Amino acid sequence: MGSKVIVFGSFVVDLMGRTPHLPAAGETVKGSMFKMGPGGKGFNQGVAAHKAGADVTMITKLGKDTFGDIAVNTMKDLGMDTSKLLFSEETETGCALIMVDENTSQNEIVVISGACGTITEEETSRTAGLMDSAEYLLTQLETNMSSIEQVINLAYNKGVKVILNTAPVQPVTDELLSKVWLVTPNEVEAEILTGVKVDSEEQADKAALWFFERGVKNVLITLGGRGVYINADGKKGIVPAYKVKAIDTTGAGDAFNGGLLAALSEGKDLWESAVFANALAALSVQKLGTTMSMPYREEIDAFLEENKR
Ligand code: ADP
Repeated sequence: MGSKVIVFGSFVVDLMGRTPHLPAAGETVKGSMFKMGPGGKGFNQGVAAHKAGADVTMITKLGKDTFGDIAVNTMKDLGMDTSKLLFSEETETGCALIMVDENTSQNEIVVISGACGTITEEETSRTAGLMDSAEYLLTQLETNMSSIEQVINLAYNKGVKVILNTAPVQPVTDELLSKVWLVTPNEVEAEILTGVKVDSEEQADKAALWFFERGVKNVLITLGGRGVYINADGKKGIVPAYKVKAIDTTGAGDAFNGGLLAALSEGKDLWESAVFANALAALSVQKLGTTMSMPYREEIDAFLEENKR
């Protein structure tokens, strides 16, 4: 097993309903299908890394309610450590209300962060001890910003390498970026943050430079079905995605980030890790769902063996 890693981020329950058409304001529509399951970027990435074989400490905050039980039970079923989970006395577990038009696949989503948007400084400070034995911290932008800044500070001060997945995208301070070892935006997030449209390798270089100027050490931009752009240690290039028939690309970025973390924790370099993460994400996009579509290590290894380059 590789080094210890921490995944800090959101948990929400996804409540998905399919409908003949999306309701207008005030309209009630009879839906045709409902599905409920665990989600949230932090949780998806933690599960992906764990199933890929990483030694993950998952930190998120739940309400003391049935939705919180979904997180705890999912983690227990997967053999994950639940001892560092945080609980709110007042706020309910977060959820995402997702409506999908069954004809056009268009959706409307309302995400309520709930408990994972109320992480306090006292709670983040409890993670300080974990930083002594961890090599990497992976976090996103879905919990309250103050908690993200505090956790990144703690990690940075203890020499833990910080990986920041900039989703869902929102402004981040230069101070925060200066403590980031690796940033992993997708193309859209990279453009919103840097102002550079990432539509060619030269443009990706420009976006990477924007991050470097703010003290980020390494840059990786995910390019959907095209793979990823990496600029690290003076070397840059594209690691292509695997050609597969994608059924549901929701959570592809989560799969990728979890896979990347797992491979890095085993001592693989960023380039090798991106190959592993592309494989993990390629497997996940061939299944419906997010958390539940993350593959096990055996499947990833078999896929890599079949698709040797
Ligand atoms: P996000 O889900 O954050 O928008 P991307 O769409 O960039 O992220 O996808 C993340 C990663 O998932 C890609 O870098 C690639 O490895 C994989 N991926 C996404 N879409 C496909 C696809 N159609 N075929 C194969 N791999 C894909």
